Amino acid sequence: MRLVVLGGGESGIGTAILGKKQGYEVFVSDFGKIKESYKEVLIINKIAWEEEQHTEDLILNADVVMKSPGIPDKSPIVKKLIAAGVKVISEIEFAIPYTEAMTIGITGSNGKTTTTMLTHHLLKYAGLNVGLGGNIGKSFAWQVAENKFDVYVLELSSFQLDGIVNYRPDIAIITNISPDHLDRYDYKYENYINSKFRITMNQTESDYLIYDADDEASTEWLQKNKTKAKLIPFSLTKSFDEGASINNNKMEIKINQEEFTMDTEHIALEGKHNMKNAMAASSVAKLMQIRNATIRESLSNFQGVEHRLEKVLKIQNVQYINDSKATNVNATFFALDSMNVPTVWIVGGVDKGNDYNELMSLVREKVKAIICLGVDNRKIIDAFGNVVDIMVEVNNMSDAVKTAQRLTEKGDAVLLSPACASFDLFENYEDRGKQFKQAVHNL
Ligand code: ADP
Repeated sequence: MRLVVLGGGESGIGTAILGKKQGYEVFVSDFGKIKESYKEVLIINKIAWEEEQHTEDLILNADVVMKSPGIPDKSPIVKKLIAAGVKVISEIEFAIPYTEAMTIGITGSNGKTTTTMLTHHLLKYAGLNVGLGGNIGKSFAWQVAENKFDVYVLELSSFQLDGIVNYRPDIAIITNISPDHLDRYDYKYENYINSKFRITMNQTESDYLIYDADDEASTEWLQKNKTKAKLIPFSLTKSFDEGASINNNKMEIKINQEEFTMDTEHIALEGKHNMKNAMAASSVAKLMQIRNATIRESLSNFQGVEHRLEKVLKIQNVQYINDSKATNVNATFFALDSMNVPTVWIVGGVDKGNDYNELMSLVREKVKAIICLGVDNRKIIDAFGNVVDIMVEVNNMSDAVKTAQRLTEKGDAVLLSPACASFDLFENYEDRGKQFKQAVHNL
């Protein structure tokens, strides 16, 4: 069997290694450049590859093609493959037949990484032999090739889910759904929602789907469509016979006739959105019969994830917070919501069709000054010009942070939560967050 791997990044190289181990004839093709360290792996494993081109003759005769999630369905080579009737699948779909491990699949618009890391932390802390994969860290296929773990917690983007056929997570989580990446879904929100729900399409009565009962898109989909999985809802406002909720500052989970409770003040993560992530992750732990004391301990010692409401430093009693991963309005909504002191807000970047209206009352209540950090700040100025007294435009991170410091007094906070993509001034959101932290340390 001939396996062609499109894209020579982390999932591509992992798939190539697993394919080779399983006896496929493997060919890796990348339209861009392949990292030197990956090339070395390919050479050591005697896997054929090309870069900066797609040689059609070598690709179109594949029996199966693994397409990396970054490559759109509309790219010419993928269109040709589909027209030729070749099976085009994702890394997860390719790898899953080669492992007996249980998988927990986590998708959603925001909170995937945090929930995945927290779930992994909870299960690891409880002593399970558990791996982390999908969009995070080492490729899932690569780990399957190394046969390392009994359980995997997988962060799954909609692009990963678009390429599944038979994959069936034992436990699935949909954290929440809000419009994102619509350019890859013909600008139809419905297509994007359906793509997220592919996570449950192969689930059976013995599987679980954990979802946000406060989330409009998720609840509507579940009213109109069917899943065989058992549903475990979580909510900040409602309670359930079976599910997770917050009542009087207590997290309560009822699953399989068992109960778990914990004061939210002892949960290390902060913010309402993180209470949701904690409910989702703890529901997995309960389903896997982890002891309550262990869940409590691990929720209280989880360190959080870099670039997500990350506390950087306190300088002259002003707290600096890096939320560079907030690349859409919904993520920024929860960041602002979690602020409880006057805040200087650094916002801006590449607009994704943002509607700032939903931030209006939070900004009025919490923000004392706005620093616009983008090449084109017009929409932000139009939206908040009349709401906030001080608005400053800057064009690099160092100036943003220095200006923020000038505008603060003791007890305030400075929040970088851009609500936009980062590609106008930075390589990616990590680069943006790192530059922020460096600028704060330089103060
Ligand atoms: P993802 O992997 O889905 O992008 P992350 O955990 O990396 O999610 O968080 C992305 C951004 O969204 C961060 O700014 C974070 O503070 C915010 N966020 C985290 N969890 C949630 C949630 N449940 N709802 C809304 N925003 C969230």
